[in-house]
Amino acid sequence: MKYQHSREQCGEYFRLALPLMTRQAAGVHPISFAIWYEYVAGINKPLKLAMDALTQNNARLDDAQTHQLFQQYVAQLDEDSATRISAGFQEILADISQSAATAGDQANRFGDSLEKWSGGLAHPELKDEACLHVDEVLGNTRDMQGAISTLKTRLDESQNEIERLRHEVERAREDALVDALTGLSNRRGFDLAINECLAALTPDTIGPCLLMADIDHFKRINDSYGHMFGDKVIRALGQILKKNVKGIDTAARYGGEEFVILLPYTAIQGALCVAEKIRQSVETSRIRRTDNNQELAQLTISIGVAGFVPGETTAQLIERADGALYRSKESGRNRVSVAANSVNVKANAKTKTGS
Ligand code: GH3
Ligand code: MG
Ligand code: MG
Repeated sequence: MKYQHSREQCGEYFRLALPLMTRQAAGVHPISFAIWYEYVAGINKPLKLAMDALTQNNARLDDAQTHQLFQQYVAQLDEDSATRISAGFQEILADISQSAATAGDQANRFGDSLEKWSGGLAHPELKDEACLHVDEVLGNTRDMQGAISTLKTRLDESQNEIERLRHEVERAREDALVDALTGLSNRRGFDLAINECLAALTPDTIGPCLLMADIDHFKRINDSYGHMFGDKVIRALGQILKKNVKGIDTAARYGGEEFVILLPYTAIQGALCVAEKIRQSVETSRIRRTDNNQELAQLTISIGVAGFVPGETTAQLIERADGALYRSKESGRNRVSVAANSVNVKANAKTKTGS
């Protein structure tokens, strides 16, 4: 976990961060809190250097810069840390709000007893001098009650606002795991999924299998039809992958025109069926050019499939799938190859088994 600070330390960092945050042009929200928290806690040197450079000569950070700093230097924070930091922020505000509520109750009780007491001062001989003082104290108490009630309302509003922003941060974190072009998971999303999947394995678990796919001669597509059309092809392939995987599977854009599909609880034969189905869907797909509506001659992909071998690391599994993909390319493209050690399988015409 990234943040190991005690509650007292968190509170202290909050107090140090607050004036620095409010001095900026950016809003006071959890994203801005996250960067200023790390700044005052001195736990993120590259972030501090970047923030110092941006706030030189009293320059103020705006929202775009704040989000950029968060994305670049903080966004890798793990799920636990994100929850902890926003919960800490909430907790501190809830504490202040609770203190205000208590103070408000006390003021109310004090005001009520004063009122009762002043009502009891019916004797004319006591009235003049004493009543003057009581009225004054009563007035002050009512002012105090008003101020506390306003403070309480403001704090409640802040809490609601923070709750809303917390959801926004969660959404932003989810977005950070998604590839903008295809809507599939991105490399980070995939890394999380595969590590989670391997960590949950038991000796009886079947699978997982990993598919690695790469568009054939994509450079030619870009060169012939332009980069924009290349992007359209990548998006279309993303759609085909989405259609061919189930809810628990993770299809991700691994890099430029390279994709990975993680199939948990799937034996190698099942993974080969999925791979072959995807290969065929791509081969038979027809993507139209945006400018003249002409169809692209033919799009094909090569795929490598690896079944998890107990004891291997994430990197080793990926490497074997990549090796199988390389063999598909070497042996003519538009085919599926299986990595060595992935359990014996029957190869079909378009399927090569690796050595
Ligand atoms: P191979 O069959 O061996 O995979 O050939 P290839 O041409 O697909 O392979 P290569 O790796 O030589 O070229 C990949 C090309 O993909 C080069 C790069 O410009 C292009 N590319 C990478 N990312 C994107 C992207 O996001 N959009 C577009 N339009 N092109 C991209
Ligand atoms: Mg490639
Ligand atoms: Mg390629």
